[in-house]
Amino acid sequence: MNSDKKIFFSYLPQSAWKKLNTPALREKVEALAGRYIDFLSACKTERETVEYVCRRLRQAKYGEKFSGDRVFCDLRGKAVFAAQRGRAPLQSGLALIAAHVDTPRLDFKQRPLVEQTCVVQAKTHYYGGIRKYQWLARPLALHGLVVRENGEKIPVSVGEKPEEPMFCIADLLPHLAQKQGDQKLNEVFEAEKLNIVLAHSLKIAKGHGKGEPDEKSGESVREHLLELLHAKYGICEEDMITAELQAVPAGPARFVGFDRALVGGYGQDDRICVFAALEALLQAKKGTRSRAVIFWDKEEIGSEGATGAASRFFEYCVERFLSRSAPVNRTPEVFLNSRALAADVQAAIDPDFQELHEKQNAARLGYGPCFAKFTGSRGKYGASEADAEYFATLRGLLNAKGIPWQSAELGKVDQGGGGTVALFLAAYGMRVIDFGPPVLSMHSPCELASCADLWFTVEAYRAFFES
Ligand code: MN
Ligand code: MN
Repeated sequence: MNSDKKIFFSYLPQSAWKKLNTPALREKVEALAGRYIDFLSACKTERETVEYVCRRLRQAKYGEKFSGDRVFCDLRGKAVFAAQRGRAPLQSGLALIAAHVDTPRLDFKQRPLVEQTCVVQAKTHYYGGIRKYQWLARPLALHGLVVRENGEKIPVSVGEKPEEPMFCIADLLPHLAQKQGDQKLNEVFEAEKLNIVLAHSLKIAKGHGKGEPDEKSGESVREHLLELLHAKYGICEEDMITAELQAVPAGPARFVGFDRALVGGYGQDDRICVFAALEALLQAKKGTRSRAVIFWDKEEIGSEGATGAASRFFEYCVERFLSRSAPVNRTPEVFLNSRALAADVQAAIDPDFQELHEKQNAARLGYGPCFAKFTGSRGKYGASEADAEYFATLRGLLNAKGIPWQSAELGKVDQGGGGTVALFLAAYGMRVIDFGPPVLSMHSPCELASCADLWFTVEAYRAFFES
């Protein structure tokens, strides 16, 4: 970490803000964060994120023909691989950054609609690790895709613009929450009560212009809603069975704090790494080593599935990329010689829950992107652990460029833990380490990240690609 000539025998991490000590630099940091905020506000689902990535890649002359120098390929709009050839043969390995595009949310059930007490709600099945209470009594937007029987696609995005309606899950009023106060947190908030209010009115019908609506007349809010959905989108209830509809926190990401030094918004785990890796790929000067990014789906639910890290998609992409210059049977060589960053966020030490972290080995907001030598939990179980040689090389690379970095683990030993996509890359025998910015309030509807960490994450990823 010491960019000056003085030799330090002891190590002390330093705030990354110290390195951003000119007004011009601070302006650049804010401009980058502004673009990041626009990205976060526009991309709330894995599909929207992959679409954004593909658009930026096309603008930068990346093509879908794998014989080219700059190539990309998406898998069903949910995962995407992009690569740029270097001067050295591919068998000498790739510089690879892997991140994930999916985020915790509330998925509609396949038959979502229920009507009770004059309200139609959508039943949901949550996706990924959420704290259920954070989703109550807050504005929600609906994103997703409805596909008709004939294959016609109807993209859905409702609730983001001020003129559009939003959606909401009602919470119990404090006056009746006495019993809840004595219950355990896990018991108070039931998944089957995460029901989203969609509609409440009856249709205008002849003979019902006067007086109260008659519950016995057989009229239903549900029928009215289905009519509205058909009129507006041309969809019927059966179309919902095959649809992907996701409820996410409504509204844009924003700067946080008087100094605008933080970004607050949904889905920064792991879109901050997607954004930073894409920026780095597009900014980096052509180098010796070929470089690639892979953005996977399904990380939040264990990386299984065709578009997750456990699938062979990445392998196929590398084989296609290699086939221009060498026989495909050389792919193991490419993997063994590759260097990878599992780009995922780290838990920043929480000012109000410091006791859950072991402070000396906890990530701090604003201290630069963070290495996790290993992940896993309880005795490093399920961990992919980077070797000392690789870690030291990366440390040397960042120090040489004056890029601040830190080292951390997720929480106190035996407190909990988590995994990332690192182990899926490690399975190929490649060198891989977790490396990404710290985030506060991870997995909440409003995650917080430092603009300084965003800045230096882009710088670090770029240095990695250029090395
Ligand atoms: Mn993540
Ligand atoms: Mn996560």
